[in-house]
Order: sequence, then structure tokens, then C-alpha cells
Amino acid sequence: MRRKVIAGNWKMHMLPNEAINFIQEIVPLIKDTKNEVILCVPYTDLFYVLLNVQETNIKVGAQNVHWEENGAYTGEISPKMLKSIGVEYVIIGHSERRQYFNETDETVNKKVKSALNYGLKPIICVGETLEQRENGETKKIITTQTRLALEGIEKEKMKDIIIAYEPIWAIGTGKTATVEDANESIKAIRKEIEEIYDSNISNEVIIQYGGSVKSTNAKELFTASDIDGGLVGGASLKPEEFAKIINYEN
Ligand code: PEP
Repeated sequence: MRRKVIAGNWKMHMLPNEAINFIQEIVPLIKDTKNEVILCVPYTDLFYVLLNVQETNIKVGAQNVHWEENGAYTGEISPKMLKSIGVEYVIIGHSERRQYFNETDETVNKKVKSALNYGLKPIICVGETLEQRENGETKKIITTQTRLALEGIEKEKMKDIIIAYEPIWAIGTGKTATVEDANESIKAIRKEIEEIYDSNISNEVIIQYGGSVKSTNAKELFTASDIDGGLVGGASLKPEEFAKIINYEN
């Protein structure tokens, strides 16, 4: 059976002292969970968070990465740099980066390859806009994004990859996809992965749902057949609320 992975995406929020307080508050609340917990935090929090999650069940991710190891790329952070301080995961291709920072399917693919080469585990985001959904293009968009993100990735690497299905119209809007819709979209992504690789890989790959997940909807989403947990934005900023999402079975 696939594990459940619940990742928080803090986006551009949380100063180091706020991050440390958050960890101190949440650790006792989630100590008994069997679910995998990841905090994807701003670069400026990474080191503080890594120091403070030692001997806890919290793993740490970044929210973006460049594909080069080093070089004249002012303002960028390389996979080697993230790995060197102990970061384990990295979000790649979040819709906010696709929308505001020129992230394309091609740069997503380069980043995924490079992250894997340096031992980082990518959380690859795919999702359709409201217009694409209304035009009946959801399946085509998310399967194409998935295929292009995974181009040239060997099947042995798939165990280190998480896909997050995040309908863009549901991110930060309070609108959540229905469980049926989210599950169907994730099934379509799983089917695409079966076509690229095989059914063993597609049955094992972790595919999360993201888009206005909260403590009140986490259980129905995460117990659907194909949804393996969530990528959580706004609701991951409050320790009690995020702990309830992580402990959704209780
Ligand atoms: C996200 O940032 O990936 C996200 C899903 O945000 P929210 O939960 O706030 O919709």
C-alpha cells in the first residue's frame, strides 16, 4: 500500500523565529503519525528548520531550485547547495512559479533531472487553469505536463518522485476540487505514468492533491483511492491546523 505524504508549502511566509516556534508547537502534536511529513520552507528558513527538526519525524524541502551545479546565475540556488545543508525534497513547477517566474515544462524537466542527480527528491506540481477546465482540457493538460516533466527520467528514479496534482483555480482560493474530480484527475496522471513506464511504477508513485486543503476536508480527500496525501499551502502555516491535517485519520 502506498504511504500518505503530507507536505506544507509555506510559500513566501515565516521568518526564522516564527519557523522555530512553529516547529516547537507542531512536533508534539504529530509525534504519533504514520504519515510522512514534509515542510517546504523559504530558503532563508532552511538552515534553522533543519537544525530544529533533528530527531523529529519532519522532513525538509525547498520550494525551487536551479538546474546548474554552480555558475553566474545571480540569485539562484543549486541542487548541490540544497543537498549540502541536508535538504531532502524540492517543489518543482509550482503553478505560482509557472505563472509569475517563467517556469516552463522544459525548465521543470531540467530541474527534475538535476535535482535527482544531486540526490534531492522532487515534488512536481501539475494542474489546469479554470479556463482549461471549463474547456474540457484538464486531462490533456495534466497528462502532458506530467509526461514532459518526466522526459528522460529512468524508471528506477520514480521512487524518489512525488507528483502533486494542484488545480490552479483551487490554490489559495478556498475552492477545493470535489473528491471525485481530484481522484479522477489523479487516476489520469497515474494512467499516463503507466504508459510511460509500467503498472508497477504507476501503482507505487505517490500523487498528492493540492488546492485549499484544510482540516475539514483532508479526511475525505486523503481516503480516496488514488490520493496519497496533500500539498498544503495556507493551512500549513498554523501548527494546530496543519497537525489536524496530518492526523486526518483521528
Ligand atoms: C499550494 O501552495 O501548493 C497550495 C495548494 O496552496 P493552498 O493550500 O493555500 O491552496
